[in-house]
Amino acid sequence: MHKIIAANWKMYKDRTQAATTAGELAAVLPEILPAGREVIVFPPFTAIESVARVFDGKKGLAVGGQNFYPAPEGAFTGEISIDMLRDVGAQWVLAGHSERRHVFGESDELVARKAVFALSHGLKTMLCIGEKLEEREQGSLYAVLERQLTAFFEARPDGMAGETLPGRLAIAYEPVWAIGTGKVAGPGEVREAHGVTRALLERFVGDSGKKLPILYGGSVKPDNAGALIALDNVDGLLVGGASLEAQSFLQIIGA
Ligand code: PEP
Repeated sequence: MHKIIAANWKMYKDRTQAATTAGELAAVLPEILPAGREVIVFPPFTAIESVARVFDGKKGLAVGGQNFYPAPEGAFTGEISIDMLRDVGAQWVLAGHSERRHVFGESDELVARKAVFALSHGLKTMLCIGEKLEEREQGSLYAVLERQLTAFFEARPDGMAGETLPGRLAIAYEPVWAIGTGKVAGPGEVREAHGVTRALLERFVGDSGKKLPILYGGSVKPDNAGALIALDNVDGLLVGGASLEAQSFLQIIGA
């Protein structure tokens, strides 16, 4: 399966800093990236165009938006549309990142509507799912992942059949308790969650579910990336803090 290594730069980097880091990546990656491996950077909105210019035409490199509002345009102060993201060079968007769900209160229903909207309007979508610590401790891992994925798969319009999703939908499993905490999930925990996610994807869309990449995210660092990417059903990594410096992100990509 196609492997995806993604960088979430959150609310870090102005245009100059973003272009500098993107330049350091673009200087080496097209030469060393194996076929079928894709690197996606999600900068803040103001830096998307700067990164897109640096990545333009470079094999295996793409840029995306961290957030958007699911309407074509309108009176939505402070929001940004899919067309606006595409206009500055975005090819991907994140939907349902845990900070959107838990800091900004986005519901399963809103996240599902956003993911469906982005896909329907031609942007590739990385749908993030994952449980909170108390949910894992209560033994609710399966129930949480099922609820988050059900919201998306049931929100799809008739035209968005399972066969149309591989190549434009990726899932990122990110346990909330591992994001930005330095506490990476153990191999057993990752294997279990990715296995559950794979089984759910197959339940919703049959064989197409085997072709949807499932990324792991949560305190990925150069020294744990190799072991994580080697696990069954781990088809990529979504990296926050350790993607801000080109050298550390390059070590993760090379792992
Ligand atoms: C993230 O923001 O998606 C993330 C996984 O962050 P970190 O790598 O810093 O835990």
